[in-house]
Amino acid sequence: MTPYIFNVQHFSTHDGPGVRTTVFFKGCPIRCAWCHNPESQSFRPETLTNEDGSTEHIGAQYRVDELIHDLAKDEIIYDQSGGGVTLSGGEVLAQDRKYVFELLEGLHEREISIGIDTCGVAPQRIVEESAAYADFYLYDLKFIDDSLHRKYTRGSNRLVLRNLETLARLNARIMLRLIILPGLNSDESVIESTMLWLKTHHIAIEQVDILPYHTYGMNKYAKLGRKAVPFPVPSDELIERIKRQIEDFYQNVTIGG
Ligand code: SF4
Repeated sequence: MTPYIFNVQHFSTHDGPGVRTTVFFKGCPIRCAWCHNPESQSFRPETLTNEDGSTEHIGAQYRVDELIHDLAKDEIIYDQSGGGVTLSGGEVLAQDRKYVFELLEGLHEREISIGIDTCGVAPQRIVEESAAYADFYLYDLKFIDDSLHRKYTRGSNRLVLRNLETLARLNARIMLRLIILPGLNSDESVIESTMLWLKTHHIAIEQVDILPYHTYGMNKYAKLGRKAVPFPVPSDELIERIKRQIEDFYQNVTIGG
């Protein structure tokens, strides 16, 4: 099935190096309780209803050649800035395999840099094969503890960790993204065990991005007729403490990506 896309964001500077175009695929195999883009979760199109009663249709289908044509319009900007295209979501690696690989091949043929933003919940073979095309991964790791992962994302972290090991074995460039939820994955002991797991499993990481939980996007739940689950927002002190702790393990640590 042709996947649905809910946004093609040109001139993005937060989804990898340089100026990029980010393609947000609609559909994700997990359900993070804090998700800032709840409209990205369903694989089907949806309608947002605004407070004033107006509606917004979410999800459009593009042919692969049509999408590549649009993405290639900014080729000069990618070249000048060291940017490219980032495939995000939802989860791009959980979309229709044929479509995803036609897109990867098309971008690769045009020598456009490809970043893949993934939650790691995707078939192992697809993750492995994507490494032949991707220049880097923005790889989310939410909980090192599987029971917390299951509780707050409704999915196990086993595949997330296995796919991370696979990419590391293939020498993929990995930027690890850690969302910080105070009290859930922010304690020193949790950060310590996450870092130790990464070191023990020889995961080479180019950069660790600390993503403090925020409440932007929460109004979208009501527009979808769903209830948002609020979490506490981390303080700057907490984020700085976590940054210092991670710097004991990895040199290149950023706040916010
Ligand atoms: S992995 Fe990302 S898109 Fe999927 S539910 Fe979690 S936060 Fe939302």
